[in-house]
Amino acid sequence: MLDVLKVRIYPNKEQETSLAKNFGCSRFVWNYYLNKTNSQYEVIGKGMNYCQMAKDLTQLKKLTDYEWLQEPTAAVLQQSLKNLESAFKNFNVFRAKFPKFKSKHSKQSIRYPESCSIKNGGVKLPKLGVVKASISKSINGTVKSATVSKTSTGKYFAAILFEVKDASSNKQGKISGIDLGLSSLVIVFDGETCYKVDPIKPTRKYALRLRRRQKSLSRKVKGSKNRRKAIKAVAKVHEIISNTRQDFLHKLSRKLVDENQIIVAETLCIKGLVHTKLAKSIHDAGFGMLLNFIGYKLEREGGKLVQIDRFFASSKICSCCGYKNNLLNLSIRDWTCLSCQNHHDRDENAAKNLRAEGIRILSANTVGHTEIQACGETVRLVGTCAKKRVSEKQESPARLLAVSEGVSI
Ligand SMILES: [Zn+2]
Repeated sequence: MLDVLKVRIYPNKEQETSLAKNFGCSRFVWNYYLNKTNSQYEVIGKGMNYCQMAKDLTQLKKLTDYEWLQEPTAAVLQQSLKNLESAFKNFNVFRAKFPKFKSKHSKQSIRYPESCSIKNGGVKLPKLGVVKASISKSINGTVKSATVSKTSTGKYFAAILFEVKDASSNKQGKISGIDLGLSSLVIVFDGETCYKVDPIKPTRKYALRLRRRQKSLSRKVKGSKNRRKAIKAVAKVHEIISNTRQDFLHKLSRKLVDENQIIVAETLCIKGLVHTKLAKSIHDAGFGMLLNFIGYKLEREGGKLVQIDRFFASSKICSCCGYKNNLLNLSIRDWTCLSCQNHHDRDENAAKNLRAEGIRILSANTVGHTEIQACGETVRLVGTCAKKRVSEKQESPARLLAVSEGVSI
């Protein structure tokens, strides 16, 4: 299994110059071949693939005008071409936009695909030697590659990719359903209790500081040195906001992963949501990032994140009797079931339904005989088993029946 650790690195003056050259060469190669493949496409209707570009690059390096391209490790420049090829591939299958030219003023990054290692508490990179780093935890495995980046605020980071042994699947914990929302960021139901976690809204917290610095930036003369400084000051606020959000989501996902073996959540349509007027709040909450963190952390430890189709009416179904309340709209925060008279908090009810649906899917879809033991209850994952789940401890038979009926609506 591959794992990544991102650490901050502190290159000395010499290494900084060398890195700047590497960033420059790598960016040049990207832009040069993006231009070249575009013009070739216009003439013969076909772009260049990686092999053609790499061959051409070898010839280009021999020309006296482009001798400086020999300075960085060849593998770094080839990686840049590989990235360009995958950018085109992603564009062709509608996964990404058309590749853009890179600017020297935005974030810079290069990838060393080989010969990287951890040495003397630092990161050893080809032709650069050991770069000082703050490595927070030990890396037990072979280092595959390292991606070095420089943010627009002038900080350097290295994302180290390394191979580790596959996680043992003996992770202990509960099965929880989590509902994501804007008033409470997550609502967690673990089979017995329900609790909510409030969002932190970092954009709102730093809005005034950001507005002041943006205003100051707008008054600076274009191309001036003060403008560069003001751009950096704005970038700094953005960095604080994103760090605050990431830190909070890392801590929250760690807590959820420590407590649970399986987490059931909705699949979010983030792309669709950001076009609504809630866009700012949704971006600020970082739903996508949270699910991503939970997903990889669980996988690393042998757990599982189950995502339920977003058309599953988790809020509308009564979690006690399975009655579907079609009159429910977004403004109603709590409601009483017309069938069983139970009073529901909207979000808690959704988390309960998601958990039940997750258990149903796990029990029904897995082929083979795997047993997952969570919080004392056994969910037998048998594909051919007629019984949807074997889980008597915390669920009453009436509720089992009701949920499977409710879900099929
Ligand atoms: Zn009911």
